[in-house]
Amino acid sequence: MRVLILGAGVTGLTTAQSLAAEGHSVTVVDAETRAGRGASFANGGQLSYSYVAPFAGPGVVGKVPGWMLDPDGPLRFRPQADPGQWAWLISFLRACNPTTAEQTTRRLLLLSMLSRDLMREFSASAAFDFAFAPAGKLVLQPDAAALAGARRQMELQAGWGSAQSALSREECLALEPALGGIAHRIAGGIHTPSEDAGDCRLFCEGLAQSLTRSNAAVTLQLGTRVTQIIRAEGRVRGVMTTAGVMEADAVVLALGTGARALARPLGLALPIYPLKGYSLSLPITDDAAAPRISVTDSAAKVVYARIGARLRVAGMADVVGYSTALEEQRLSTLIRQARAAFPQASDWRELNPWAGLRPATPTGLPILGAAPGHPGLFLNLGQGSLGFTLAMGSAAILAAEIAGRPPPIPLDGFRL
Ligand SMILES: Cc1cc2nc3c(=O)[nH]c(=O)nc-3n(C[C@H](O)[C@H](O)[C@H](O)COP(=O)(O)OP(=O)(O)OC[C@H]3O[C@@H](n4cnc5c(N)ncnc54)[C@H](O)[C@@H]3O)c2cc1C
Repeated sequence: MRVLILGAGVTGLTTAQSLAAEGHSVTVVDAETRAGRGASFANGGQLSYSYVAPFAGPGVVGKVPGWMLDPDGPLRFRPQADPGQWAWLISFLRACNPTTAEQTTRRLLLLSMLSRDLMREFSASAAFDFAFAPAGKLVLQPDAAALAGARRQMELQAGWGSAQSALSREECLALEPALGGIAHRIAGGIHTPSEDAGDCRLFCEGLAQSLTRSNAAVTLQLGTRVTQIIRAEGRVRGVMTTAGVMEADAVVLALGTGARALARPLGLALPIYPLKGYSLSLPITDDAAAPRISVTDSAAKVVYARIGARLRVAGMADVVGYSTALEEQRLSTLIRQARAAFPQASDWRELNPWAGLRPATPTGLPILGAAPGHPGLFLNLGQGSLGFTLAMGSAAILAAEIAGRPPPIPLDGFRL
């Protein structure tokens, strides 16, 4: 089958890999001139298979006003003249209840465990380096109440395959001595040894290169903007692009936050809105002062991962529209938080700041599978804060769907 994949981020490229492995002829189209230039460029680098509980959690509604009033808070909202933003927010608030959050967590765990198995298999024989490391992860809790809540979540997930343990402050420090500077802010933490980390940009670039080099069936068509999805005789037949018409037997929409505008003329209302986040990539200048394990400061909602010789710091979830401009105030908050946590890890001269748009659905569940009412169109979208983590499993699901096989996990809740 001739398959067009729209989007050369981590979602589109892993889909290309799965489809090429099944013998399809694949073309990946992207507006950027290199792969992995969207949200996949400098994300947190965490392959966070056990931390998939959605942002839309039961306690969130009560916390939102406090976060909004705090200029350093992890969440920011700026109203836009975009009904999509309001519709997203209303659905998000509706999803903030225990039943939905628990159901979403269960479903995401199935997808993340599938992704973990596939990523481990892939990394064991990958033909390129993407700083993959079985780093493990420690999620720090600031006080006894937060630690008790994290323990409850850990116990819930234990029944669904997550192997985690609760640690005291002393045990956290013994596990990760670089945390000494913020010991006073730690009540304890949840440790998950089975989490990984890697460089998502290197992964995308390496995958794009190795797919096109080793497989004549994969073509990359970069620097090409998709302007329209073409429907004729009752099915999707291809796309209109800045380089002309491209025809295909199947089209996979993997455009991250770019998908909503393109799907709208087909009458498909995709519940995806950008959650803007920031990252820093700090050269590590004192090895012992930088964490080896991936760390989440859950009070500040900032994550730290060692990626090769750099410390990647990522945080913020701003509902402020589609701009990726670096806002000075948000950036300085992130720098201040990181510097307070790991002051000696870097000399703080080179920060490599970046902002990206997480393609988020209100519930946190990605949208996977055939597009309803549009034969020939398939969706692989909305992985939100977990796009690197969930990429491999999502791609395997798309390959099964296109081949007409039963999916490797149940797709309840994932379909549009
Ligand atoms: C600050 C931050 C930290 C994060 N941390 C993590 C983490 O630690 N772990 C994790 O798993 N996930 C993390 N994420 C989430 C993850 O980065 C995303 O979910 C993932 O990158 C989404 O991949 P994608 O391929 O769907 O989208 P993208 O990478 O955005 O790719 C979409 C592509 O579509 C292209 N495109 C859009 N519109 C068009 C068009 N009309 N025509 C042609 N091309 C178009 C874009 O150029 C882009 O290349 C983080 C995200 C952010 C912002």
